[in-house]
Amino acid sequence: MKTISCKELGGACSQAFRGSTFEEVASQSQQHGAEMVALADQPHLDAMAEMMTILESGHVEEWMNAKMELFQLLPDDGE
Ligand SMILES: [Zn+2]
Repeated sequence: MKTISCKELGGACSQAFRGSTFEEVASQSQQHGAEMVALADQPHLDAMAEMMTILESGHVEEWMNAKMELFQLLPDDGE
């Protein structure tokens, strides 16, 4: 499996997500992000606001592709 951090996925902290596919880590990241926003965690609120800017700019596909590429390049620890 691969490990990617909240920050690497556009979040705000070093919380790590593990999975074999991008979809797996993306859903963990989304859930974590929602939890942090529910707790009104400022760094995550800022990260979310930035995400909204990307969404509104219409560049979300490019952003997503870049994250997927990053995930593909991560080493697989074989677990
Ligand atoms: Zn986080």
